[in-house]
Amino acid sequence: MRNPLAAAILTAELNEDSKALRARYQRLLRLYRVSRVIHATLEPQEALRRIVREAVRLVGASSGSVALINPTNGLLEILAARGLPAAASELKLRLGEGITGWVARTGQPARVSDVTRDPRYVRLRPSVRSELAVPLEVHGQVRGVLNVDSDRPDAFSAEDQATLTALAAEAARVIENTWQFEQWRLKARLLESLVSVSRTLNSTLNLDEALAAITREACQLMQARVCSVMLLDATGAWLEPRASFGAGPAYNRRPPVSVEESLVGVVVRRKKPVQVENVQVSGRYQNVELARAEGLVSLLSVPLVFQERAIGVLNVYTGAPHVFSNDEVRTLSAYAELSAIAIEKARLHERIVEAEEQLRQNEKWSALGLLAAEIAHEVRNPLAVLKMLWHSLNLQFTPGDPRAEDARRISDTLEQLDRILERVLGLARGAEPQFAPVQLNALLEELGLLVRHKLAQANVTWQPRLQANLPTVRGDAVQLEQALLNLILNAVEAMPRGGTLTVRTRAVRRPPTAPAPTHVWIQIADTGAGMAPEQLRGSFRAPLRTTKPRGTGLGLAIVGRVVEAHRGQARIERRRPRGTIVTLEFPVG
Ligand code: ADP
Ligand code: MG
Repeated sequence: MRNPLAAAILTAELNEDSKALRARYQRLLRLYRVSRVIHATLEPQEALRRIVREAVRLVGASSGSVALINPTNGLLEILAARGLPAAASELKLRLGEGITGWVARTGQPARVSDVTRDPRYVRLRPSVRSELAVPLEVHGQVRGVLNVDSDRPDAFSAEDQATLTALAAEAARVIENTWQFEQWRLKARLLESLVSVSRTLNSTLNLDEALAAITREACQLMQARVCSVMLLDATGAWLEPRASFGAGPAYNRRPPVSVEESLVGVVVRRKKPVQVENVQVSGRYQNVELARAEGLVSLLSVPLVFQERAIGVLNVYTGAPHVFSNDEVRTLSAYAELSAIAIEKARLHERIVEAEEQLRQNEKWSALGLLAAEIAHEVRNPLAVLKMLWHSLNLQFTPGDPRAEDARRISDTLEQLDRILERVLGLARGAEPQFAPVQLNALLEELGLLVRHKLAQANVTWQPRLQANLPTVRGDAVQLEQALLNLILNAVEAMPRGGTLTVRTRAVRRPPTAPAPTHVWIQIADTGAGMAPEQLRGSFRAPLRTTKPRGTGLGLAIVGRVVEAHRGQARIERRRPRGTIVTLEFPVG
């Protein structure tokens, strides 16, 4: 090098270069460390806190924040802050509002050396002099802003801006990851809840228990403070509170609300979710006082829809202001769909239990009717004899004889008795069977459904062996159903610790040489306690002594009568090694 000055300059430049290189290396190293720190958590909130902390540290700022755009309302919300007053976390900016809002709208970074001279600036902290803000972009879309401030004017260099931009790129990835993770976690939680609910609902067929499980699981699912279910009443005009979780007793005693005039009524009418950001100050919400007492703030109400019909609403309340995201609304709606099915299932089951109880009651009444008719028959003949003898006595008393009055009274009383008997017999005749073709297979299948839960409770396996294309029999479906139900219930009641109930049907020929089937043959076989020989004898004729606490001892006698009225045959016998077999036959018709 001939020119010493040039050489010196070159050396100096080289030194400068290597210094810059070193600085750059240092910066990258720090960024790398920072990126490890912020990537090391899957908690969204914790990730945001770390991002802000590292941003402040990296560029030597006094305070900082991360604001993200809420997809539901489009507002920028500060989700994590450092060195800012607590009130900052409540701040919501519209896109374009403040420096942060400007960055979010334009997608450009903003480096403001003196905030007091920037008209965009929104003051959060009095001593702030300069600010640096960069966009957070996910898949080329601005999702938020990373912000740092300093108490010194002109505190941030172009290099700081480059550093913060690099950090923002990393932060956006972290946010995206944790957000995705949140989504999966939400989905996993939904699935878990669904599994848990369906398990609970399968183990309980009671409506109240189902509703309790639904509200409990909904609270868990949505991490809510209170959940409640309201169901439409029979008129469809009122929504009645039916269950809640997380609330006090006063809440459960709140009155029904009108579908026409209430907020939740809208949910039912439109079959669409509705949310209220703060029910305590909402003019549309009915129970503002209660909401205040219970500390309920945000409400998400979704319809319970079964087969296109709204049957009620599921309400979820948070204890702090919250805007439910589209995902949350979708999640709760899916959950509500399942809940509606569970509710209908429980209701249906309750109706079946009622119907079964009703049939049992019917059995008693028809038994009583039969008994009354029998007594009337038995009394009518001796009464006829009495009347005949009385008239043939042809008693004549002289006028003024007090016995004349007695004789007249005896005659009147005999007539009265006759009328009473006629009435009883008339009633019994009114209950005469209505004959029509009956499909016994269908009848048995229906009965199987009817007693399904009783079978499950007793651990009895229902084993139908029904011959296809069975001919119909001519009979009274109600009476046949009553008879078969009694035989099925007897069989179940004989197997309190479980067993198998086999129901067979077959078309048979009597005599076997007949050209076509003449009878339908039904067999009901159990693996239960069996009957004693003296019980078996004549069981279809006279009432038996019942061996059950709530029994009537009339069931088999009624079966006998029904079979007789249908010109059928009935047999009952012991089964080997244990159990009872009842066989019936009815003529085809
Ligand atoms: P109830 O069922 O009201 O007792 P039933 O006339 O139907 O009246 O039956 C009378 C009694 O006959 C029963 O209490 C029971 O002891 C006995 N019984 C009937 N069916 C069976 C069966 N399948 N297995 C064992 N015992 C039976
Ligand atoms: Mg019985």
